[in-house]
Amino acid sequence: MIIYIEKQALEYEQTKKIIEKFKNSSIIYIDNYKNIFDKDYTNLDSKKALIIAKLNSNAVSEAPAWYGHTKSAFFFKTSLNCIFDCDYCYLKWAFKNENMVVFVNYDDIKKQIKEKIDTLDKNEIHWFYSSDYSDILGMDVLSNFSSEFVHFFEQFDNVKMEIRTKSANIKPLLDLWFIPKNTEIAFSLNPQILIDKYEKATSSLDARIESINKLLSIWFKVWIRFLPLLPVKNYEEIYGDFVEYVSKNINMCDINSTFASGLLYTKKDYNKILSKYKDLDILHMLELNSDWFYRESKKVRDTFYTMFKNLDNKCILCLEY
Ligand code: SF4
Repeated sequence: MIIYIEKQALEYEQTKKIIEKFKNSSIIYIDNYKNIFDKDYTNLDSKKALIIAKLNSNAVSEAPAWYGHTKSAFFFKTSLNCIFDCDYCYLKWAFKNENMVVFVNYDDIKKQIKEKIDTLDKNEIHWFYSSDYSDILGMDVLSNFSSEFVHFFEQFDNVKMEIRTKSANIKPLLDLWFIPKNTEIAFSLNPQILIDKYEKATSSLDARIESINKLLSIWFKVWIRFLPLLPVKNYEEIYGDFVEYVSKNINMCDINSTFASGLLYTKKDYNKILSKYKDLDILHMLELNSDWFYRESKKVRDTFYTMFKNLDNKCILCLEY
């Protein structure tokens, strides 16, 4: 693997840990991560490179109201781009190339999060979503995210963190040696046939289910996110079988919450991904809805929602009014 290291990131503890872990990598020192990351640039061997950098801008941004299960929620970033390769992922057109960035100045990022929390209403619960810029658990092998941030969030009374993942690698969580009260692990699940086709390099459905059951057995709080639900040919049959499989293999009563959402793009994002991936069939199964999002038709969404409400009648539906 090629590792680019910003000179200003060299002295951080995390940088040293990464270099120690990937001793056989080729290291290239750079002045600014944007010189690599913000360029239409492909590595010669066409594998994703890792960029180690210092985050000098905002780590925290506000999520849309009712994005999750509370009105007040935030995204925060510690890395950009992903170790996995899902065809529909917005990261594919959000950034100019697929190289992965890990920001290593964790103390600065934690300080920003704490400053934000200090401004929030103490009588409400606020959610912090960690996985919007990459699959944080999948990236843990590079970032040591869990050991750094799960502990950090434990100090707050009215704040929760979500780690959303398509990875079955729960070792970083088991290695914590405690059960966090403020972190919930949200596994995204889809039928195996669709994982094979659209969610390349992610863990298999069975491996994710095994990890869910392991975490439940030791009292972790686990969510399931059924997303993105994909409007493929025969979707009713494929998802019907999937719901049955999930209900047989996971005790849904033990799941803290479930969440369902179809594919959803703003008009601008949809046009961007379509111009880049014209042959991606699922894009052509979406339509511009009255809410100005490209998404499945209301009829398709309602069919999905009926299935998932039957599985869990408390299932939250994303951006449905
Ligand atoms: S796992 Fe998530 S972040 Fe990673 S490529 Fe897939 S959709 Fe994108």
